[in-house]
Amino acid sequence: MTITILCIDDSKVSRTFIKKGFRDILQDTGVTIEEASNAREALHLCHLKAYDLVTLDLTMPDMSGYDVLSALKQEAIKQKVIVLTADIQPLAEKKVMELGAVGYLEKPFDKENMVTLLKKTGVL
Ligand SMILES: [Mg+2]
Repeated sequence: MTITILCIDDSKVSRTFIKKGFRDILQDTGVTIEEASNAREALHLCHLKAYDLVTLDLTMPDMSGYDVLSALKQEAIKQKVIVLTADIQPLAEKKVMELGAVGYLEKPFDKENMVTLLKKTGVL
């Protein structure tokens, strides 16, 4: 079984860290990671295929992560989205969960916390 992830983040450095994190924790499972550097591209990819997991940045220049979640919800596109943000706030967590995200973690993510979340959400 190979897990397919879409990593949405405008920062190339962040995407590199996120990819490395997933490769470390999923090395036994196998993982394919696609990337989107902006929301428009991300929404296009989310239309095309169902990923096992989508990670989403909140702060991006073209559309925020909140807008991406709203667009997915409005278009009834089902993806398991975990929001990864450097700026952890309880209100933001509440908001993204209401918009349909399955998780919310600080970036760079703690590997143990990510594994727990992947199990909880049925990705693993
Ligand atoms: Mg960003």
